[in-house]
Amino acid sequence: MVQGAFRVFLGLGFILLLFLIPAYSSAQDPPLFRQSRILMGTSVEITVSRVDPKTAEDAMEAAFQEVERINRLMSHYRPDSEISQITHYAGKKEVRVSPETLEVIERALYFSQLSDGAFDITIGPVFRLWNFREGKIPGEPVLKENLERVDYRKIKIDRSRASVMLGGPRMELDLGAIAKGYAVDRACEVLKKNGIGNFLVNAGGDLRVGGEKEKGLPWTIGVQHPRLPSEFIGKLQPKDAGVATSGDYEKSFVKDGVRYHHILVPSTGLPARECQSVTILAPSAMDADALATTVFVLGPKKGFALIEKMPGAHAVIVDRRGSVLLSPNWPNGVLLPP
Ligand code: ADP
Ligand code: MG
Repeated sequence: MVQGAFRVFLGLGFILLLFLIPAYSSAQDPPLFRQSRILMGTSVEITVSRVDPKTAEDAMEAAFQEVERINRLMSHYRPDSEISQITHYAGKKEVRVSPETLEVIERALYFSQLSDGAFDITIGPVFRLWNFREGKIPGEPVLKENLERVDYRKIKIDRSRASVMLGGPRMELDLGAIAKGYAVDRACEVLKKNGIGNFLVNAGGDLRVGGEKEKGLPWTIGVQHPRLPSEFIGKLQPKDAGVATSGDYEKSFVKDGVRYHHILVPSTGLPARECQSVTILAPSAMDADALATTVFVLGPKKGFALIEKMPGAHAVIVDRRGSVLLSPNWPNGVLLPP
């Protein structure tokens, strides 16, 4: 599934650019460059503007390399990643990890504690019981048995040794709800270091913008309607912020009129039921990514209460009935009509 939750609204000159990259959008417009690659199981798109072609090309190459580097550290699909090593030695011994991996695991634990376990990166053993492509629902006994292996409180971190250990045997780590956001943040840092101030990095719906698209014209991001894929519930024009959406329409199937999807309640192993989609605006893409999943599981009431405690974070929820709800602190004018 490479389709993200967002579509970036494209200017006409920009559409002409899609296969001529890097190139100038038109004689008058400032240059806009865009490249996409399949990385971390999704389409990662980088768009930069108001810069010369050479700087753009070099910076984008470096940013993609950074996403690949983060993926090598954190993918649970790669047996050689640090995350897979931690899983491999679950219940046996600690694993020394890079500062990046430690940072993401610590941030994940922060959201777990804040949400009383609604966010849990040890979800792997029950997550793997679901087959969204084939529409298979796991039986209750097997769910129950594997739920015993899910508990973020058993993740042991020794900061001084930069080590991580899973306290129980057969536990697993899965950073699927936070690592893409982190990779986007890292890619943005690399772009900045390479002289780019105006950028949009989108990893399948986890994204971050910096600067503006054109002078006086912000980047514009469409928030997809969870039930009508070609429609938007609104658009966002954030400045220097991370944005992420978690939706029940991404990896999902419908059986006997009930929708089953990939965001699970860690205490039951069943799909969270209170939302159709959650879009978060936050200072970083990592926080936006993790919070989108967390608020999705918590539902509007508890989710908004959590968001109010987080400086700079805001949420748009489409609840289970399809109503669009804005968090109480939602900044005026940031969600515009589609
Ligand atoms: P997407 O991958 O579509 O952007 P999310 O960011 O919400 O969506 O992440 C969903 C992924 O996170 C799942 O595919 C699974 O790997 C993992 N996951 C599912 N439920 C939870 C949860 N409650 N806490 C942490 N991770 C979860
Ligand atoms: Mg997420």
